[in-house]
Amino acid sequence: TEFKTQNLNEILRKILPLIQADAINAKMQLSVATENVPDTPLNEEEIRQLILNLVRNGLEAMPAGGILEIRTYSENGEVFLSVRDQGKGIEKEIIDKIGTPFFTTKDYGTGLGLATCYGIAARHNAVISLETGPGGTAFSVRFKVNRPSL
Ligand code: ADP
Ligand code: MG
Repeated sequence: TEFKTQNLNEILRKILPLIQADAINAKMQLSVATENVPDTPLNEEEIRQLILNLVRNGLEAMPAGGILEIRTYSENGEVFLSVRDQGKGIEKEIIDKIGTPFFTTKDYGTGLGLATCYGIAARHNAVISLETGPGGTAFSVRFKVNRPSL
């Protein structure tokens, strides 16, 4: 994988029209909030894929509609991306299985979206964390900064 030091917001900005089209199709509201974030080494193709997979899962989790929220922000020089939906959440019983290739609960799912996301995150030295409950699910990707050790 090739990395270029660049801005996450810039990649998000470029795929926003695609995400907006997805949201309109799904009759979903989209909320996008970007804070200034530092440039980090990213593979643009992979980050697009990561964002789209998380967004599509979020949209698919809300068959009755709702708001999908995409946020970028920075804390302690690290860059975060979060995608939050208002779906019904992920049952405890399957939390350990999601991200396993081919695991899906959807009639026409491939079960490859999250596995791909985890692979992309690993190559970026990023960590994906998950918060889920009856009010919805949020996936957060934290791009760790490798500080030289003292
Ligand atoms: P697919 O979308 O093809 O099913 P994924 O790897 O993207 O495959 O997701 C695997 C499973 O994880 C989904 O089938 C679903 O059960 C669960 N999942 C992923 N994202 C969400 C979400 N935002 N809300 C609820 N469940 C989710
Ligand atoms: Mg998916």
